[in-house]
Amino acid sequence: MTEVHNYMEDIVSDVLDEVLVDMEDSCKCEKCKHDVLALALNKLPPKYVVTEKGRLYTKLSELEVQFKADVIKEIIVAFGAVKARPQH
Ligand SMILES: [Zn+2]
Repeated sequence: MTEVHNYMEDIVSDVLDEVLVDMEDSCKCEKCKHDVLALALNKLPPKYVVTEKGRLYTKLSELEVQFKADVIKEIIVAFGAVKARPQH
């Protein structure tokens, strides 16, 4: 059993939790987190990978280094947008 998965979702979700620690004045409710996640994911290219039984074929560490800087940048932009006009 294999499935196609957008690995960018995992990266953005992980990086979001890291960035959130430094965003003391930002709302951390689920709605705002999801808004940031959606905004950032719309700006970033999807990265589809084939997974089997929950394991990824792709070398994740290499992908992460390659995309992390862009991901952090888009998340910070998205945080600014959500903070300026929160939907919660
Ligand atoms: Zn909120």
